[in-house]
Amino acid sequence: MSFTDTLLHWHRTTDRQLPWKDTLDPYKIWLSEIILQQTRVEQGTPYYLKFIEVYPTIHDLANAPLDDVMSHWAGLGYYSRARNMHKAAKHVTNELDGNFPDTHQDILSLSGVGPYTAAAIASFAYELPHPVVDGNVIRFISRYLGLSLRKNDPTLAREIRSFLTPIIEDTIPSVFNQALMDFGALYCKPKKPDCELCLFKNQCKAFMERRVEEIPLPKKKLKRRNRYFHYLHLEINNEILITQRKEKDIWQDLHEPPMIETMQDQELIKQQIIAYLDIESNDLELNAMIDRRKQILSHQDIYASFYKVMINKKEIITLKNRWKWVKKEELQNIGKPRIVDLYFKDNSITLFS
Ligand code: SF4
Repeated sequence: MSFTDTLLHWHRTTDRQLPWKDTLDPYKIWLSEIILQQTRVEQGTPYYLKFIEVYPTIHDLANAPLDDVMSHWAGLGYYSRARNMHKAAKHVTNELDGNFPDTHQDILSLSGVGPYTAAAIASFAYELPHPVVDGNVIRFISRYLGLSLRKNDPTLAREIRSFLTPIIEDTIPSVFNQALMDFGALYCKPKKPDCELCLFKNQCKAFMERRVEEIPLPKKKLKRRNRYFHYLHLEINNEILITQRKEKDIWQDLHEPPMIETMQDQELIKQQIIAYLDIESNDLELNAMIDRRKQILSHQDIYASFYKVMINKKEIITLKNRWKWVKKEELQNIGKPRIVDLYFKDNSITLFS
C-alpha cells in the first residue's frame, strides 16, 4: 500500500472529536489554529468555545476593544497571539470587506499566521493542497524518513514539506492533513509508540534502524533566566491601583499593580517603595511581603512577591504613565497575567464573590 493509502486506511478506524473539526468557516478554523499554537488541545478547547460564543463572527472580534479580547485570552499565555489575532480581524473587516483570504499566500500574510497555520486554514477551509507541518507531523514524518535533525531546525520542516507536497496533491487535502496530524498525535507518540502493530513499520526508517526513541533530536536548550517582580497592592475606598504593561516584554497589554523588578532575589525595603511611589515616609504603612508565587514561562521563571501598601488617601499618589485606580468589581473584567489574577482571587474574598 502507498503512504497515503496506509494513512487513510488507519484514519478510517479513528474518531478524534474536536469542536472545530466539522466546520468549513475559515474564521472558526483560523481562531482554533491560533489558539492551539503552543497550547494543548485540552487547554485550548474551552477558550475556543468562549471566543466563538462572545465573537461569533470576525466582525464581532474586529469591533471589540483590544482590552476585552485580552481579558478573554488571559491564562492562555503567549499574548502576542491575541494581539495579532485582533489586528488580523481588523484587517479582514476593514481592508478586505470582511472576506477572509482564500489563497495560501494571502492567508500567510495575515498577522500571526505562519506556514503551519496558513496550510491548515488553506486545506481545511478551501481544500488547497498545502501539507500541515506541526509538532506531531514533524515527529511522525522525521521517524518515517529517518531524519536525524533537531525538532526546531528549519531544514527539518523544509524536508518534510517537500516530501508531503507532491503526495497531498492526489488527495482530499483536509482529510489527508487531518489524518497526518491525528496519526502523529494518537499513534506515533513521543514516547513508546506501538511500532510492532504500526501499519507503517515495514517502511519506517527509524523503526527499521532502531532509532525511534532518538528521532527527532531534541531542541537546542535555551538559557533560562530568573526574574523578580515585586507588586505593590495599593487599595483604598474599594479601588485598586493598576497599570498596563506596554513594553516589548512578556504580558504586553495586560494589567497589573505597579511593580518594581529587581536583579536579585531580595525583599523590598520601605525606602525603595517610598521612592518608587514618590511619596513621603509618613504617608505609608507597609505590610511586609504578604504573598509570593512562581510562574514558569518558556524561557524564564517569574518570582512574584506581593506587598500590601497602606495609604490614607489616594491623592498622595501621583499617577504616572498608565497608572489608574479601578473599582474592585471591574478588576475581574480586565486582562491580567495569570500570577496576578490568582493573587487577587486568593487574597480578596470580596473581590470575585
Ligand atoms: S513504526 Fe513506530 S516510529 Fe514508525 S511511524 Fe509507526 S509508530 Fe511511528
